[in-house]
Amino acid sequence: MFKCAVCGKVCVYKRDLNRHAKIHDGSKNMCRICRKTFTRRNALSIHVQNCHKIAKNTPEFENAVQITDAIDK
Ligand SMILES: [Zn+2]
Ligand SMILES: [Zn+2]
Repeated sequence: MFKCAVCGKVCVYKRDLNRHAKIHDGSKNMCRICRKTFTRRNALSIHVQNCHKIAKNTPEFENAVQITDAIDK
């Protein structure tokens, strides 16, 4: 078992932890569709609407802009 030093998430395999650790890199504002990251949440919001043609205040939008803290909950 491998534990993430940042959030405490436990992974069975080291490769899973390595993959997981990437979510802590840089910005939390990551597009869940293309995994592009943004320094500003507003920029992510605009990206999702413009690049993926997803309207704001829809379940698809919420999924796309979900912050990393919410992943394991
Ligand atoms: Zn973590
Ligand atoms: Zn995207």
